[in-house]
Amino acid sequence: MKVLISARGAGRLMARHPWVYKSDVVEGPPAPGLYPVAGPKGTLGLALYNPASEISVRVFSFEELGSPEETLLHNLRQAIARRKAAIAAEPEGAFRLVHAEGDLLPGLVLDYYAGHGVLQVGSAALEPMTALLAKAIRNELPLQGLLAKNNQKSRALEGLPLEVRPLWGRVPERVEVREGPVRYQVDLWEGQKTGAYIDQRDNRLRLRAFQGNIALDVFSYHGSFALHLAQRFEQVVAVDSSAAALKRAEENARANGLDNLVTLEANAFEFLRAEEKRRARYDLIVLDPPAFAKGKRDLERAYAAYKEINLRALKLLPRGGILATASCSHHLTEPLFYQMLSEAAADAHKSVRVVERRGQGWDHPVLLNVPETHYLKFAILEVL
Ligand code: SAH
Repeated sequence: MKVLISARGAGRLMARHPWVYKSDVVEGPPAPGLYPVAGPKGTLGLALYNPASEISVRVFSFEELGSPEETLLHNLRQAIARRKAAIAAEPEGAFRLVHAEGDLLPGLVLDYYAGHGVLQVGSAALEPMTALLAKAIRNELPLQGLLAKNNQKSRALEGLPLEVRPLWGRVPERVEVREGPVRYQVDLWEGQKTGAYIDQRDNRLRLRAFQGNIALDVFSYHGSFALHLAQRFEQVVAVDSSAAALKRAEENARANGLDNLVTLEANAFEFLRAEEKRRARYDLIVLDPPAFAKGKRDLERAYAAYKEINLRALKLLPRGGILATASCSHHLTEPLFYQMLSEAAADAHKSVRVVERRGQGWDHPVLLNVPETHYLKFAILEVL
């Protein structure tokens, strides 16, 4: 059985973009699964196929060398092999082992937390492969356990159950992870995403280059940036709307012997407005909001929201102050992100230097032909 796609769909695959939309599928099997994909001129590769999804075809190989199952497992082994040196150098660290399309494994995420694995399967075509994938992971890496953290909402769209369950071994509720000179607790079962935002790891380490009197970490989660900053600044304020995350931030601060980190449960928009009103000043501010633009339709509203928080943060910074600001929405492209920042700077009447343009960590690979894989923008700016 094969999935037959239109000439337009074939054109996308020829340009090495792995997605084909439902409207470009001419004919396909009735049920989700792994299948060869063919255009009018012949076979183009191997793909996850779900006739019910808007993106019906997600290619994981642009060749047809082996069986779909063997090819998928080959891609998995390759992805893990690319991270092995980093894990050997920091076995108690956190790394992304599989980053979906970026590792030619659409629908699959696998994270490493100090000897424990967390897997997310986001595709009905892949779901029946879970046991096979779990076994292959076990053979590739000496882990203590593997958790399926399959509670992401996108699974419901694929008709899959939302559940969190160990696939093998022992998976504790909390795992302590090292990140440079900082240690933090990750809540594997209940935390956001797979437990932590590993994509910002290298950016958090980068900000250790700065020091000063007072720093502000907005959208702090479990104190991620704040812990690093607390080792470099006299005082740090961590703001988030999640009380559970902030409770861990406080525990993390104590575990690192830090007593200069204050947490505040608040809506970031209201908090920044209030800080502007009372003319507060910070030497460094981190803004790491959730994706405001979940879809293309939200982009205009999201743009305004990003601009609002950046504008307000810029107003809280004196000359020489640093704004480290992120967007993880791939709909807000890098050019739009910098346009938004320059408008915010203009409206705040501030001259701003771009100290560094950064993005997601190396273990979240970007495919040049697949702009959606470059989702995280991170700018380090200095107010002049
Ligand atoms: N900086 C973190 C990741 C932040 S993820 C890290 O490096 O690990 C985004 C965070 O924003 C989440 O912790 C979420 O709880 C919080 N959040 C979402 N909406 C918010 C709002 N309106 N105000 C404050 N916090 C918010």
